[in-house]
Amino acid sequence: MNSVLQHDLNNFENILEKTKKQGIDFLNNLGNIPTSNKKSIDHSRELNELGLGSLAALEEFNARLAPLMVASSGPRYWGFVTGGSTPASIVGDWLTSIYDQNTQAVKAQGGVSALIEFETINLLLQLLELPKSFLGGFVTGATMSNFTCLGVARQWFGIQFGKDFAKNGISENLNIFSATPHSSSIKALSMLGIGSQNYTAIKTIEGNREAIDIVDLKKNIKSLNGKPFILISSAATVNTADFDDFEAISKLKEKYDFWWHIDAAFGGFAAVSDKYKHLVKGWEGADSITIDCHKWLNVPYESAFYLIKEQHTALQIETFQNSNAPYLGNPLENFNYLNVLPENSRRLRALPVWFSLLAYGKEGFQDIVENSVSLALDFGNALSNEGNFKLLAPIHLNNVCFTLKGEDNQEKVSQFLTNLNDTGKVFMTPTVYQDIKGIRASFVNWRTNKEDVVAVVNLMNSVFSS
Ligand SMILES: *Cc1c(COP(=O)(O)O)cnc(C)c1O
Repeated sequence: MNSVLQHDLNNFENILEKTKKQGIDFLNNLGNIPTSNKKSIDHSRELNELGLGSLAALEEFNARLAPLMVASSGPRYWGFVTGGSTPASIVGDWLTSIYDQNTQAVKAQGGVSALIEFETINLLLQLLELPKSFLGGFVTGATMSNFTCLGVARQWFGIQFGKDFAKNGISENLNIFSATPHSSSIKALSMLGIGSQNYTAIKTIEGNREAIDIVDLKKNIKSLNGKPFILISSAATVNTADFDDFEAISKLKEKYDFWWHIDAAFGGFAAVSDKYKHLVKGWEGADSITIDCHKWLNVPYESAFYLIKEQHTALQIETFQNSNAPYLGNPLENFNYLNVLPENSRRLRALPVWFSLLAYGKEGFQDIVENSVSLALDFGNALSNEGNFKLLAPIHLNNVCFTLKGEDNQEKVSQFLTNLNDTGKVFMTPTVYQDIKGIRASFVNWRTNKEDVVAVVNLMNSVFSS
């Protein structure tokens, strides 16, 4: 063994102790660490011939790289839709690295870690009150989940014409409908060879809404004259957290033949609260659902899962099978995750979620969701009552979309946001909503509280007047 590696091996406990101590210091100070910074590095560092050993590498990390870290997992990072990490999720994440299992097969290959993934999916179905007719697996994010689900949808579409797109390539124009798809679904259409422009934009409900207009959807369905189609629907859009009407879509399912996909990256968690579960009523009728865990479940990146109805497993295997490797066995007989999703080798990605669900239970996540929504409402109300700001849409769930009051202030929105983010005390992201320049604040983090909201509103007023 190389002498530096040997030294590290002898010193393992001390190395991990130092790392743990550093982790605790960071997490205990998270509320004071800036949410943005302008520090930079010269990233042309040369690789050293002789290894430094872990502790010297840690010293260099602390000197050069640690100062780049922002409190994106902290209570006042409201940009994009960004969760943090609960204690239990970090336990699971650390142990995932420690045990370092390759999570593929349920049987054989020496390990059974895929069973932990089955168990975790089963727990998630209970949390979200979804039926066991869904099978699921973990991928890196909602983008990959959308890709996985739409990949199977693509295969389903081909089969309607007796064609195997996975084997022979796409030879029919796909009919895809969506009203306000997330950019990652469009990216998935591009990656799947369908083409990012090859979807029909259905109208949204008139007025201040991003949800699909069912009347316009029906009109488009009728114009297909019975041909199959794929519907990409939304459980919470990123600007205004608007939901499509899943009960109405379920009714259409009784009449027409289509693949129904729901991007519920964060909105799916409405299901854990009695107050908000009506928003996803009827979603169990979907063929596939995308959900992110690194957002509202507050586990570290990279964690998301797909749910696809069990009746489509054969199509899913056709799409993703890796079975031309004979040593992996017959994909229909031996379930193996590498035959049903994009990656082959995967870490035990389910473990942080498994720990979180056992540690906090249904009630823990219900509290996180309800707290987030109540803070979004507090923030929205505070902005409406201040003279300087205006909401751009009603608050459906946990996202607040607003702008500066007065049309002549449109050109100031971007500078205002830059100045606000430069304080390092809060972070929000820009948007354009119905052709108006706006700002989004998304409430997802388990640590955020009422004091944060009050402090940010005060800060916003002072940045506005300065
Ligand atoms: C965040 C998000 C995505 C993309 O998720 P990643 O985890 O970044 O891949 C997709 N859809 C919606 C609705 C989202 O909010």
